[in-house]
Amino acid sequence: MSDYKCEACGKYKKPDNSELQIGDEVGFSVGKQSGRTIRVSAKEGLITAIDGDRLTIHVKRGGDYVRQRAHVTQIGAPNGITLELFGVCLCPVVKAPA
Ligand SMILES: [Zn+2]
Repeated sequence: MSDYKCEACGKYKKPDNSELQIGDEVGFSVGKQSGRTIRVSAKEGLITAIDGDRLTIHVKRGGDYVRQRAHVTQIGAPNGITLELFGVCLCPVVKAPA
């Protein structure tokens, strides 16, 4: 979680799904239709393959799912409510010297 908190201003950084990598843990939802209702359940898994904006996510004992990059959330990343409560960090990104 601390990865997303800015040390300079104490606000949270917006998670950036363009930086997702193989091995990252993500959450996503799965909709299952039963009768006229759709049950949505939340799942978490590990990214095992990336093909452009298509992520293959392996869920323990749950198989593999393919999701669009924009439709997953990073585990530990602040959600919308957190961002609203604490504010979003707008500090310029400073790369630490290698
Ligand atoms: Zn900041």
